[in-house]
Amino acid sequence: MRKPIIIANWKMYKTKAEAQEFCHQLKTLTNGNIPETAICAPYTLLDTLRESLADTDILLGAQNFYPQEEGAFTGEISVKMLKDVGVQLVLIGHSERRMLFGEDDELIQRKLLWAYEHQLQPVLCLGETLAQREQNISETVCLAQFAHAVDNLSNEQIGRLIVAYEPIWAIGSGKTATAADAQAMIGAIRTFVKERYDHTAAMTMRVLYGGSVKPENIAELLAQQDIDGALVGGASLAAESFAQLLKGAIT
Ligand code: 13P
Repeated sequence: MRKPIIIANWKMYKTKAEAQEFCHQLKTLTNGNIPETAICAPYTLLDTLRESLADTDILLGAQNFYPQEEGAFTGEISVKMLKDVGVQLVLIGHSERRMLFGEDDELIQRKLLWAYEHQLQPVLCLGETLAQREQNISETVCLAQFAHAVDNLSNEQIGRLIVAYEPIWAIGSGKTATAADAQAMIGAIRTFVKERYDHTAAMTMRVLYGGSVKPENIAELLAQQDIDGALVGGASLAAESFAQLLKGAIT
């Protein structure tokens, strides 16, 4: 019932020429035979990507925005500006934004509501640190991040949400959570929604896994009952590995 989606997060990588070359290669390698796919790119690439991906079904995503219409917010970007260049979805609360740029639960909550109010599909990222995992508080931490973020949303909005569970210790480290560990946490998030919010929302909300996802482990992750796709960093940067990963995600 839930359609899998693979989302590339390019973080702070690529020039325009590199992005164009990537799209050219990806199209050749996949021949349009892909699952639902999105690329979240740096701002400078969005317009180029819109053109390069115009003949594909790949969705265009951004990695951040500031929840105000416009104004004196030096260095920030608005939803209106993103939509102006064709952006359809946006990451919110990535652990790198939480840890390196001081984003807290309150800002993430505001961003989530703002994205919905401005018709931009949010992708809410959450996850625990290694220290939290070692203290056996991963589930408490992740459910608290989730509950705080969705506090002002309707059940219907929760049902349309895309969540990405990314254990911080697995990001860029080569250490993937086992498929069973990822399933356990993602299952717990879904159960939490079922019990605390709404059964239908729990059944329709898509929850992805992120953290060292590669062509070699995508199929096993997607075979888990509650895992609806992946948020991919490193393996999304080269067209060859991303094409292979997309191939492995076709169910
Ligand atoms: P890696 O796939 O490089 O571990 O990055 C994961 C991530 O942070 C995606 O948002």
